[in-house]
Amino acid sequence: MQNATPPSFDVIVVGAGAAGLIAAITAARKDKKVLLLEKLSKIAAKLKATGGGRCNLTNTLSNDEFMARFGRDGRFMTPALTSFDHKALMQFFSQIGVESHAPDGYRVFPVSHSSVSIITALEEEMTRLGITLICNARVKSVQYEADRITGASTAEHTYSAPNVIIASGGLGYPQLGAQGDGFTIASDVGHKITQLHPAMMPLRTKETWVDNCRADTIAKVEIRVDLPKAKNIRAKGDLIFTSHGIRGPVVLDVSREITPLIEKYGEVPLLMNLTKGLNEGQLLEHIKNEIHKNPEQSILTHIKTLLPEPLAREICTLALADPDIGFNKLPGLQRDKLLKLLAWTPITVIGHDGFKMAMITRGGVSLKEIRPETMESKILNGLFFCGEVMNLDGPCGGYNLQWSFASGYTAGHLGEIQP
Ligand SMILES: Cc1cc2nc3c(=O)[nH]c(=O)nc-3n(C[C@H](O)[C@H](O)[C@H](O)COP(=O)(O)OP(=O)(O)OC[C@H]3O[C@@H](n4cnc5c(N)ncnc54)[C@H](O)[C@@H]3O)c2cc1C
Repeated sequence: MQNATPPSFDVIVVGAGAAGLIAAITAARKDKKVLLLEKLSKIAAKLKATGGGRCNLTNTLSNDEFMARFGRDGRFMTPALTSFDHKALMQFFSQIGVESHAPDGYRVFPVSHSSVSIITALEEEMTRLGITLICNARVKSVQYEADRITGASTAEHTYSAPNVIIASGGLGYPQLGAQGDGFTIASDVGHKITQLHPAMMPLRTKETWVDNCRADTIAKVEIRVDLPKAKNIRAKGDLIFTSHGIRGPVVLDVSREITPLIEKYGEVPLLMNLTKGLNEGQLLEHIKNEIHKNPEQSILTHIKTLLPEPLAREICTLALADPDIGFNKLPGLQRDKLLKLLAWTPITVIGHDGFKMAMITRGGVSLKEIRPETMESKILNGLFFCGEVMNLDGPCGGYNLQWSFASGYTAGHLGEIQP
């Protein structure tokens, strides 16, 4: 039997992650009585883990460039980013005592380079504003009458409020709280949930030679999908070989596009430029220069000027080229093959570790049923969404936190449209 809890609130926020915390603070700053319910024993478990504990809060791109990186649905963010872009986010944190900066001119971190400083400041602001926080409180459902929200329930209590903000995250890294409850709650009241895919994670490959290159980090790799209908899927960044596949920033970026393709095709062929963008002609020039400097040296020695030795050996093996002979001794066809493989090394993705290693979730509550100006449901008045629970995901580099904060800020206005 449920205990009805007498004190009523203006708004119940479900989930104390990036989106929920800023939504709660925004509402409380507008003198609303806020109840924040968090499933775990502590707030902001995922926020703490972000950016390897350094918290890549946002980035310095213009709103147009930022939205373009989210793909087709990116424009949905226009109103939220117009009122809360990266500058507003940095200012928000500055006002509560956390200065931030962009050491590389692009990715923004707290100057402390510690996510804990962000969380402490948010906690202090919540205390200052008198927000009621209850941890170990897992919301199971929302209550409504006709087309109006009336509250939310855990297994033990029903709390009443005319507004509920669902900020419960996606499905990735379930140990950090998000287990898809928001999708169930939203779908129970009639919201459509798009197909859900794990995204931003290491990938497993068919090729076993990767194991021999384990822990080799290759800078500025370009990856492209080698499927006729997906040729425009590309990403650039550092790549690390693992015992079963590939990881690193470029893999995180491209994986969000690849997981749906794995489900469709079973395996996904990729091409990797591991040689800092050099094409076949430029590679030939580079090797000729090396030969000029060291005419007696082997192919391996020349390729080692571009790649770590284990990887250089594997590419020679793929080209059926003896790494220990001179480049000029290599038959023409093999030489062409070697240059081709150096320019674009093929690799085949056959799987991943699912949501347990997925930094974000691709898919979520359908944007068609949410008002972008307010984040309010078009189905139930007083129901709002923010953060990863919605069907929007961005690449690596502060995109997902900026979106969580901007949507949380918008939802926290409880239907009031920002000028
Ligand atoms: C390891 C890692 C590193 C990352 N690094 C970055 C980075 O540097 N920059 C970046 O932009 N993005 C990063 N991301 C992605 C980013 O963290 C998420 O996109 C963002 O945290 C989503 O915020 P959210 O508030 O929507 O969800 P979450 O942060 O997942 O918060 C949801 C909260 O709701 C709670 N909850 C869930 N269900 C219920 C329920 N039924 N009742 C009550 N509470 C509930 C959860 O416990 C959780 O506290 C990273 C992700 C991971 C996993």
